[in-house]
Amino acid sequence: MPIVTTGQMLRDAQKGGYAVGAFNTDNMEILQAVIAAAVKLHSPVILQANPVIVEYAGLDYFFAMAKTAAKSADVPVAIHLDHGNSFDLVMKALRTGYTSIMFDGSHMDIHENIRITKSIVDACIPAGIPVEAEIGKVGGKEDKIDAGEGEYTDVDEAADFADKTGVSSLAVAIGTAHGVYKGIPKLNYELLSRLRNALSIPLVLHGASGLPDEALTECIRRGICKINFATELRMAYTEGLKEFFAEKPESFDAKEYGRHAREKVMLKVMERIRICGSEGRA
Ligand SMILES: [Zn+2]
Repeated sequence: MPIVTTGQMLRDAQKGGYAVGAFNTDNMEILQAVIAAAVKLHSPVILQANPVIVEYAGLDYFFAMAKTAAKSADVPVAIHLDHGNSFDLVMKALRTGYTSIMFDGSHMDIHENIRITKSIVDACIPAGIPVEAEIGKVGGKEDKIDAGEGEYTDVDEAADFADKTGVSSLAVAIGTAHGVYKGIPKLNYELLSRLRNALSIPLVLHGASGLPDEALTECIRRGICKINFATELRMAYTEGLKEFFAEKPESFDAKEYGRHAREKVMLKVMERIRICGSEGRA
């Protein structure tokens, strides 16, 4: 299937009351695992790379892998730049063929965030590429990206931001954090409902790895339609490798242990797709 944008994909999810999983894919095995899970469950899916993955694998290398995977899949696949951190990187992703862009100006002052996000939206409109932005701040640390302390999204500010920038979707901060949780996070569901009422565009949840199933279900019920998963996939992959070497410490075949770790990631992604409610929506 040709790659699609996240535009219609997320609007369908919003209408249908489910979420599409957006999975950070650090390497080929994780990417193949995500695609295999989506195909098995007939689910739309988003493959995404953040700037650290881009630095590790290369913007075009990741894109080529994702595009190859998407072409062989019979489900809609979008290729998304996660946490784009500069106008320059976003433009490169756009030229490379990414079908969805996030620009994260959440650490900037609101006027600067609006100004740059708007210029990115203006540049992406002619190509028909949707832009996700973030307001408030989803804190925590993932890869080398340290977002520091989180900051809840303000409802009026979010509505004004969406209005002024014309973004296609918005990542909101309701108490989740990137990376690994210590203890169970307290999410502000009431804030999420107020954001849902005040905004018409799809809402995105970052920092979902490690959230209990009920928390994800509640977020979707209250209007989240894209959920990002990163840390969990890395953990499943690493666990797969450790498991394999505990049993076969003498192995040196990258394909053998890669296959085992890939299977682990696929099972984790299938679990998450089911929670998102996107199974059978392809
Ligand atoms: Zn994020």
